[in-house]
Amino acid sequence: MLAAIDRQAGRIAALSEAILRDPETGFREVRTAARVEAELRAMGLRPETELAITGVRARLRGRCPGPTVAIIGELDALAVPDHPFAGAATGAAHACGHNAQVAAMIGAGLGLAEVMGDLDGDVVLFAVPAEETIEVGWRLEQRAAGRLEFIIGKPELIRLGAFDDVDLAITSHATVSTPDGPSIEVLGGAGASANGAVTKHVVFRGRAAHSGHEPWAGVDAQKALTVATVAIDAQRETFRDADHVRVHYTISAGGNAISSVPAEARLEIMVRAATVDGLRDASGKVDRALRAGAQALGASVEITTAAGYFPLEADPGGAELAAAAARAAVGAGQVRVHEITGHSGVSTDVADLARVMPVLSVLSGGATPGYGPHSSGFYIADSDRGVIAPAKAMALLTVELLRDGAARARALTAARPRMSRDEYVATRRSLEGAETYPSAPSAPPAGGGAARSRAVAASSTVPVAGSRTTP
Ligand SMILES: [Zn+2]
Ligand SMILES: [Zn+2]
Repeated sequence: MLAAIDRQAGRIAALSEAILRDPETGFREVRTAARVEAELRAMGLRPETELAITGVRARLRGRCPGPTVAIIGELDALAVPDHPFAGAATGAAHACGHNAQVAAMIGAGLGLAEVMGDLDGDVVLFAVPAEETIEVGWRLEQRAAGRLEFIIGKPELIRLGAFDDVDLAITSHATVSTPDGPSIEVLGGAGASANGAVTKHVVFRGRAAHSGHEPWAGVDAQKALTVATVAIDAQRETFRDADHVRVHYTISAGGNAISSVPAEARLEIMVRAATVDGLRDASGKVDRALRAGAQALGASVEITTAAGYFPLEADPGGAELAAAAARAAVGAGQVRVHEITGHSGVSTDVADLARVMPVLSVLSGGATPGYGPHSSGFYIADSDRGVIAPAKAMALLTVELLRDGAARARALTAARPRMSRDEYVATRRSLEGAETYPSAPSAPPAGGGAARSRAVAASSTVPVAGSRTTP
């Protein structure tokens, strides 16, 4: 199996290179998906396509029915316009190394195809869209048009049932590398955890007027935004230490002309926390602060909250299994295990998958030294470490899970209870919502107040009465 991957290493690396040079952002990875589909067809498989718009998957059958292991590759690029391989027109760039993941997934499949007759379960090769939370406005438009509901790939695929026939997942991801660094890194430690996140797309609306002639006739949307951000910052001490809350925002649009009172201002906000309850609490406080800004200036604010990622709880035992497989695949000297016992402030949609099934992960080296993921110089420069090594590690890990009656896969799936798809979708929906506050600032108080109250009730834990009433 490993020899088969070595034999086809040129083809696997070429796929990674081709995707690197043709980046596409989330839910728009049409050409990347077509490449994956072509590779799967060349393997004699019958891929399913257009899953959550661009997702592609195909099944390799084992010798008998048993657990199904999905090997995941992410299709999407980031938008980093000054990246050396950025698309000229779009600014999209594989600054997170997902091109290597997709190729490693295909590489693992090429190896596994040789040994499926010895395995007691199936493998699904799964190219998933939109891992990165970017272009939120565009994704919300797609949601409004009915093309998707959840704005991240794996959650949307879970909602659609595309993981219903999968029992465990294996992921790889590029990480920071040094010239003499290992090919594979594994994050170990039973206590490893990471934050979940919700994103908010916020629009303040006021009224334009001449800033010199009659500023009193205007309503300054930008100042409403300023009051809101001060109110958000005033919340920080109220977040519980154990919840590890982070709130970051960026002002995506302000006024247009210095001599005109800004009629519109926009914010993008990400709220992160270590628990679902912590997310809900912090998200509600941020909404309260946003309403306060609108209230203070007599503006209105539209708040659209989309769930990003769930908080991550690592699977105990998974890291040891992944590290052992990686050592066997690429040599012990090429594998490093980081014992993580603390909590990480970052977020990943691997955590969403981990809500519904065990997920085992490896990190791969071979990236440009001195650059971190999402920076303008980060890409996979050494395909042996960045593409072929994770392909071998994931293939061997799959064999370990599915050999001998798939005993290891069965033990992992039985280790702790998981959410059902319905529970997952309901919990995720409970973190989302849309409201306008007040619903109609220049209309009589009765107009639309009931509708706004319903919207607020659906989106927030903060009860709000009539449209002119302070919450
Ligand atoms: Zn990323
Ligand atoms: Zn990534």
